[in-house]
Amino acid sequence: MTSVKEIVGEMAGASPEDIAFVEKAYEYSKKAHEGQLRYSGEPYFAHAAATAKVLAEYGMDATTIAAGLLHDAVEDGRVSRAEMEKEFGKELLFIVDGVTKLGTHKYRGAERHAESLRRLLVATASDIRVLIVKLADRKHNMQTLEYVPEHKRRRIALETLEIYAPIADRLGMGKMKSTLEDLAFPYVDPDAATHAAEVRKLKTQETEDGLAKVQKELLRELKAKGLTTFRSDIRMKGLWSLHQKLKRKNDDISLIHDIAALRIVVPTVEDCYTTLGTVHALYKPLPGEFKDYIAFPKPNGYQSLHTTVVTPEAGIVEIQIRTEEMHRRAQFGIASHMTYKQLGKGVEKLGKEVQKSRFSAISFSWIRSLIPSLMKVSRKSDGPKGVTKVPPWLAELAEAHTEVAGSEEFVEGLKEDFFSHRVFVFTPQGDVIDLPAQSTPIDFAYAIHSDLGDHLQGAKVNGKLVSFETELGNGDIVEIIRRDSAHPSQKWLEIARTSLARRHIRATLGMTEPAKPPRTRRRFWKKKAA
Ligand code: MN
Repeated sequence: MTSVKEIVGEMAGASPEDIAFVEKAYEYSKKAHEGQLRYSGEPYFAHAAATAKVLAEYGMDATTIAAGLLHDAVEDGRVSRAEMEKEFGKELLFIVDGVTKLGTHKYRGAERHAESLRRLLVATASDIRVLIVKLADRKHNMQTLEYVPEHKRRRIALETLEIYAPIADRLGMGKMKSTLEDLAFPYVDPDAATHAAEVRKLKTQETEDGLAKVQKELLRELKAKGLTTFRSDIRMKGLWSLHQKLKRKNDDISLIHDIAALRIVVPTVEDCYTTLGTVHALYKPLPGEFKDYIAFPKPNGYQSLHTTVVTPEAGIVEIQIRTEEMHRRAQFGIASHMTYKQLGKGVEKLGKEVQKSRFSAISFSWIRSLIPSLMKVSRKSDGPKGVTKVPPWLAELAEAHTEVAGSEEFVEGLKEDFFSHRVFVFTPQGDVIDLPAQSTPIDFAYAIHSDLGDHLQGAKVNGKLVSFETELGNGDIVEIIRRDSAHPSQKWLEIARTSLARRHIRATLGMTEPAKPPRTRRRFWKKKAA
């Protein structure tokens, strides 16, 4: 069981008031969950405490750590919302409510809806801290997944792999991403996980000694160049990420050079390039394998120099060079923009922090890509459900980006954005379907299945029968009534908004399909294993 000392011990630089606040939440949560057990037989409170510890490690503020301690107390009905607000304030309740709300959106394995769900989760998180608590919560749930009934395990693991790990990745939280992936992988595909583990072990044994020699030689050389304050370690590739790469390389292990990589962390950007020069003077680089993610960061803000060199001692080796600051950001991502003290002053700090970094203008482009659709949405609907307004932290980021990147680039980004003008709607089972704005039940039916569209008899939105012309709004729950005798009519063509629906309608009406190549979509996010 995580002790309060362990949690507080991670809160470097915290004020006595903050520490007292977390200690109070610890005792309070312990009492609230009294007598309640986890599947593992542990007291339920162990989960709350473990979640809080992760948040403390991530440098989150006292309110967020306390929210981690209390995140399940309201949902279990053990504490009333009013009482929680009275004891711990509005801000904490706000985070706890947000976490509860995220929990209601579940992934049921329809891979084509995965991206919609990721975006929905980010968009409904009214505060970035909500997402971070949710990720910390998920991390501990994954660590104890073996105790959960078997029929639930796979769904939870798949959700972790398809939804939460990618969200962590897009928020730049590399450490969280690979932890979640490797915890989930064995439950999703046990054979592949075993195979990847064997490959990694084999490769590590082969290169271990040689790599240590390379490390030694390189360090000596760097010292000779006057670089004295740096550190290096050997980083092992995550199993899931290795699995992805094995698939891409047709299981040819000899083509994978970064299972064990040498990582060098130096003080400044200049030092990075000096180190690179030293590395290339010492070992011959493989042509085409050098990547300058410092000048060209990844969409999630990741920065480093990657080069692959041939060494006499360890064969082909990948070397990663970065500054301390880049290293911190690669691990903690968006969370590292909110060090302990800054968060207390609210989200506006996040925007300022982002502005400070000259590279962050192009960082977090995934988040940036969400903003236009959210702004559209906020103008259009103001119902209580779904995404109704731009969460302040997203708006802050948007503004920071506008200022830094110059409005021209930003506006261009908006225009091009694949995701602008979308609405999120739900099936009665809770799957999220995303459609172009002004879509109708006809579009929805075809998005689910062509058979459902072709036999669409009627539609209910939020339990009420509606006409086919009805424009769907964010958060609507749409139910399709199917009947064998129902068929599309000519009129549907005017109502349908998606080309998918129109194509099917035309085909059923016996109209010849215009010869048009399939629309290629700009993929804004390419899955990439580092
Ligand atoms: Mn929980």
